[in-house]
Amino acid sequence: MSLRPVLVWFRHDLRTRDNPTLVSAIETGRPLIPIYIHAPDEEGAWKAGGATQLWLHRALASLDEALGSLGSRLIIRSGESLSVLKGLIEETGADAVYWNRRYEPAIIERDKGIKSSLSEVGIEGKSFNGSLLIDPTKVFNKSGKPFRVFTPFWKHCVGEGFKTEKASNPRSLKAPASWPQSELVDSLGLLPSLDWNEPIDDAWDMTEAGGHRALKRFASKVADYKDTRDLPAEDGTSSLSPYLHFGQISPHQVLAKFRGRLEEGNEGIRIFMSEIGWREFGYYLLFHFPDTTTKPLNETFERFPWNEDQELLQRWQKGQTGYPIVDAGMRQLWLTGWMHNRVRMVVASFLVKHLLQPWQSGAEWFWDTLVDADLASNTLGWQWTAGCGADAAPFFRIFNPITQGEKFDSDGNYVAKWVPELADMPAKYIHSPWAAPTAVLDEAGVRLGDNYPEPVVDHKEARTKALNAFERLKL
Ligand code: FAD
Repeated sequence: MSLRPVLVWFRHDLRTRDNPTLVSAIETGRPLIPIYIHAPDEEGAWKAGGATQLWLHRALASLDEALGSLGSRLIIRSGESLSVLKGLIEETGADAVYWNRRYEPAIIERDKGIKSSLSEVGIEGKSFNGSLLIDPTKVFNKSGKPFRVFTPFWKHCVGEGFKTEKASNPRSLKAPASWPQSELVDSLGLLPSLDWNEPIDDAWDMTEAGGHRALKRFASKVADYKDTRDLPAEDGTSSLSPYLHFGQISPHQVLAKFRGRLEEGNEGIRIFMSEIGWREFGYYLLFHFPDTTTKPLNETFERFPWNEDQELLQRWQKGQTGYPIVDAGMRQLWLTGWMHNRVRMVVASFLVKHLLQPWQSGAEWFWDTLVDADLASNTLGWQWTAGCGADAAPFFRIFNPITQGEKFDSDGNYVAKWVPELADMPAKYIHSPWAAPTAVLDEAGVRLGDNYPEPVVDHKEARTKALNAFERLKL
């Protein structure tokens, strides 16, 4: 048996527990060298944005610590992945590289090349599925084609059952006789030069243990998910998205936590697991339709008459549209790196339909500002809202930002929290301050056009314009 080390290449699986790659590497009985390669240029057009770089920095530091507690450590290198791997193989005498697969189009291409280059020089390159419940290459509809509609896709997946690759929580990792040099996390330049990260750092514990604490906290209230998940002022969702994105927690761990109660028929858990299903669907679509990160799946939308306007885009980005629920969402995003799903739908619809800005501009802003920015889920979310993706909301269904606010934030607590200028407005007018009598505005200290903007567009006019643009598309 070879006792040459195995390189365990961490990517979007920054965890020590339930990691099929790590488990298989341990089973070889050989020394393990955990590595992380910083190669932002290999992400194609989708280099990590500011908020995910911050998270990555913290997650790498946390992984190094977790590996340390198992008698190991994380070797960090930057550079072209294949050259870094070859360099490490030469330095350490390793003859195998194991990793968990990623499904972003540029990474799939890169990894294919790496696998064959390694095999040409007699190095074993072995990959595992550590981030999805299903394998997107194996699921098709009855006609043998990729699913394009969520419900039959998820029904099919649930019907097949979810196979778990080997997973366990290692107690210790065999160290090599000597460790290769490592760069410091600090040297990767992932932290911002300006100090916008402070509130985001305050809002999150970006460690693997932090992900488990979030899961535990959520498990105690998941039964209410059905009723609370659409209320942005409530802490009714799991906040697991960034941990899932970076693989600090796996969907198998989530499923394992809830499986028993799911089988007992708990409705909250069934709905929650179907949201995990949407994440799977996003990856599935990204795998089968890799161009959709920038191009609409429904090609007709390539002709959509957008009204590109930097000023409108900036007002949306800064949360200065004059529509309180939209502004609250955009400010929550800026200050915490996260936004509630209901509000993501509202702000995305507003940008695309009320302001007629291309969905790609919104996707890019989310990419830079979300701590959970994820190519699969972000593409799915934007194409869904714009009406041009798989199983999308039809374009003519236009979210009304006033009634959405009144329905899902009826007390106005969410707006009051993120738009403090409106904190003293009575609930009746907080989602439409322009409709409030002057005395009410005075009492609340709101001066429209001065300390809070007038609406950037008129809702009814914007709606008609959007529908007309959509009609033209159909010609
Ligand atoms: P929960 O409600 O607790 O859901 C549990 C998990 O299920 C989430 O962590 C997430 O992994 C998954 N999930 C839930 N809803 C969706 C969904 N609609 N699509 C895909 N997966 C889902 N999610 C991202 O993780 N990254 C993104 O970049 C992203 N961009 C989005 C853009 C738009 C325009 C929209 C409308 C949605 C986007 N979402 C994205 C999906 C969703 O908003 C977030 O996953 C969710 O708000 C995360 O909060 P949570 O973990 O508390 O979710």
